[in-house]
Amino acid sequence: MKLRHLQNALAALTVLSAQASAQEQPLTTKCESAPLMAAFVAFGETGRMPSNLAKFLGDAALNKVEPYKAFDNVYYVGICWVSAWLITSPNGHVLIDTLYGSYTSQMLSNIRALGFDPKDIKLVVVTHGHFDHAGGIGQIKSELAPGTRFAMTKEGWREAAEDSVSHPRFRWQMIEPDIVLTDGQTVTGGDVVIQAFETPGHTMGTASFAFDARDGARVYRAFTVGGLGLNRIRGPEQVEAFIDSVKRIRTLTQDGPRPVELHLTTHGFSTGLNEAKDRLKTRKPIDPHPLVDLPGFRKQLDDLQAGAEKRLVVERQKKAN
Ligand SMILES: [Zn+2]
Repeated sequence: MKLRHLQNALAALTVLSAQASAQEQPLTTKCESAPLMAAFVAFGETGRMPSNLAKFLGDAALNKVEPYKAFDNVYYVGICWVSAWLITSPNGHVLIDTLYGSYTSQMLSNIRALGFDPKDIKLVVVTHGHFDHAGGIGQIKSELAPGTRFAMTKEGWREAAEDSVSHPRFRWQMIEPDIVLTDGQTVTGGDVVIQAFETPGHTMGTASFAFDARDGARVYRAFTVGGLGLNRIRGPEQVEAFIDSVKRIRTLTQDGPRPVELHLTTHGFSTGLNEAKDRLKTRKPIDPHPLVDLPGFRKQLDDLQAGAEKRLVVERQKKAN
């Protein structure tokens, strides 16, 4: 009897320790896009964040990405799971998104490590009011030059104020609304010109941004899609808005005097940014720029639209019931 008890206890221990080590296994130690994307898809489908994803998001060491020059005037200063882009000019810079918590300090260190002074940032444009993009806004305002301007859409400012006091896991210091972006508006910081587009869907206040990215003699029209996921949907109208925005962004890749040519994403795992960045390091002068992938961008937009159309059916059913 005793021996059987012992054997049972040992068997139970083995199972427990196997579970524990499975849990301890990080999602990725090298910021690989595929496992992160899969975990976020699972989160989106179930509404429950996988525990290894939650752990990863909070792990500053695993989220560290060496800042790098993506284009002659565009630098990546974000962390693994959330982007921040610095667009530079001799007369001042523009920052897209603020990160959050200790990651905001990491971003400011990244900017300094690249040889720039955060005090030369003239304008901060924020894609939307969720904590991962807007959560550092209060800290940044206190650390940057007093004249630094901040821009969001009207609804973006409202969402950020709401999220800053009501998010279940992360609260932050919000600032008073500054520049209120409207659709098609251009804003400047130093010599950097950013065109803003109202692209509601991920949140109703989401903005996307177009700007020039220089690569030697070539000037590309770059685009940052302000919101990608359907993780905080509040009904079919929001999904309809998402689909309309995605369709519109797709037309921006083919119409007008300066069609958009590439996507500089707010979440690197969504475009394989970390892997493309590695190809940047070994790029030879005759090689194409690894971050310029217009077919890939259009495929991403098609996938976003297809996913949203599926979700729309679900949201319409929910509303009808
Ligand atoms: Zn968001």
